[in-house]
Amino acid sequence: MPHRHSSPPRRALVALLLAVLALALAGCGREGSPPVKGPKGSELPQYPVARNFRLPASPTWVQAKRRGHLVIGVKEDQPYLGEKDPASGRYTGFDIEIAKMMSAALGFPPRTIEFKTIASANRETALQNGQIDLYVGTYTINDKRKKLVGFAGPYYLAGQSLLVRADEHDIHGPQDLAGKRVCSAAGSTPYQRIQADYPKAVLVSYDTYSVCVDNLLTYQVDAVTTDDAILLGYAAKVPDELKVAGKPFSQEPYGIGVPRGDNALRLALDDALAANEKNGNWQKAYDATLGLSGVPAPKPPPIDRYPAS
Ligand code: GLU
Repeated sequence: MPHRHSSPPRRALVALLLAVLALALAGCGREGSPPVKGPKGSELPQYPVARNFRLPASPTWVQAKRRGHLVIGVKEDQPYLGEKDPASGRYTGFDIEIAKMMSAALGFPPRTIEFKTIASANRETALQNGQIDLYVGTYTINDKRKKLVGFAGPYYLAGQSLLVRADEHDIHGPQDLAGKRVCSAAGSTPYQRIQADYPKAVLVSYDTYSVCVDNLLTYQVDAVTTDDAILLGYAAKVPDELKVAGKPFSQEPYGIGVPRGDNALRLALDDALAANEKNGNWQKAYDATLGLSGVPAPKPPPIDRYPAS
């Protein structure tokens, strides 16, 4: 349905912007050109691979070792966090760095990591059915999910926020969403929070946030909601068209998902995180990735080594 803002010249502009966004999200411009403000390889830390590391108490680790590679679930459309370059198939971003850091600590060099894109709604099932060994992708730790999977970390604290078009002046926080079309990813905590706490908002869901952003740019929805860390990445790619509105209104501690009950793996990852926070690699990884969306490195949140479950 044509929206009153979607006059033909406007539509052409939006189409052009979408093309720009697609290129930006793809992380590549013309062939051979560097990604727009993308992480520079030289600035990324190298994580020394643990030698003779063994974790016989972890069924996940034992199986991965036998297989010869580690399968890690990630996102592929979240700028500065987990992004896949469609041309090279290469994944980059802060979550990807955390994944590489963890793999190295478990004795798996980068060439033995297989990244697999898994959407928000499918994370628990993927860990439960052995499709992936770990998950690193803006994955909020909460009690409901802890009944289904285990979590190492947290390694970062995000907060739910709103992304709107730059010319939007009526939406400053979730209280302004009544009657507005709001898009989020199915199975995400931000989706669930709007559904529970702001029932007057008209919720729309897709598998991924990048589809929500396309819908925002084409006036199909009025706002996209998820973690500030994710939204800042989209806004940074097209700052003239998009902005993050208001202040974060939740706490989203990011954890590394592991199969439930594999406490040996979970605690080994907690140790690895603590070591990388101490030796400066966490900060270096942040600065070369998520830091590019404009927020200086915060102090990482305290790691929660919760008892075996
Ligand atoms: N951190 C939130 C969640 O785990 C939103 C981001 C996401 O969907 O990955 O649901």
